[in-house]
Amino acid sequence: MPFDSHIHLGRLPHPRELALILAESGYAYNAVACEPEEWESQWELWQNLDLKGKGCNLAFGIHPMSVGHAKEGYKQELRKFLERNDRFQVGETGLDRRFPEYGPGELQEQWFLFQAKLALELKRDLQIHCVGDYGRVIALLKQVGFGKSSNGSRPIFHRFGGDVGAARQIVNMGGLISVHQSSLAKKSSQKAVAELPKEVLLFETDADETFWSAEDLNGTPAIVAELVAQRLLDTLGNVRETAENL
Ligand SMILES: [Zn+2]
Repeated sequence: MPFDSHIHLGRLPHPRELALILAESGYAYNAVACEPEEWESQWELWQNLDLKGKGCNLAFGIHPMSVGHAKEGYKQELRKFLERNDRFQVGETGLDRRFPEYGPGELQEQWFLFQAKLALELKRDLQIHCVGDYGRVIALLKQVGFGKSSNGSRPIFHRFGGDVGAARQIVNMGGLISVHQSSLAKKSSQKAVAELPKEVLLFETDADETFWSAEDLNGTPAIVAELVAQRLLDTLGNVRETAENL
């Protein structure tokens, strides 16, 4: 089973039972908590179920959708969660043109820069959410020091939707590309994914409450676990098909 590089475990129903079932089936993942309200419960799950021993990891951050109500005190709190394990990732953070405060210098950018710098300082991978301007996100990463002296801190472009040019720049910065099923919807991203070396590709479900409601409202954790695993395998299969057909 491939590794799921981005899943919102805490937003799926019965996360504890689901995590147990996934662990028993050997499904390893990176669980993303990108709302401050999710940090503590994610941490508890991690500890109680020994998710580390199951090959899983966590990311803590603030999503661009949530920066409007982000408080200054979250910065210190975020750091505290990240310092609990030296592999925890930062994010997801980034820019999304669909949400307020998207412009240069505005709140989304301020919180993105803060988290990018924190990732560099703590030598952590950075989960990046980008809907809109790949050029601007890449330029901001370079501005804070990614690419030159990344210190083992890699930008991971979650749910990649960029083109070949963006993908090459990301790889040159030492970054990784995380492929979601939606990454294959656009011809330009398909081409990018097909031409990249395998070592820089990750796969993800990005499963959250929307995944759940779209799939099966009355499912048990066992059914959700199966759907999640199936989604990841489908994505992998689609990537192989795309590469063969291009
Ligand atoms: Zn996500």
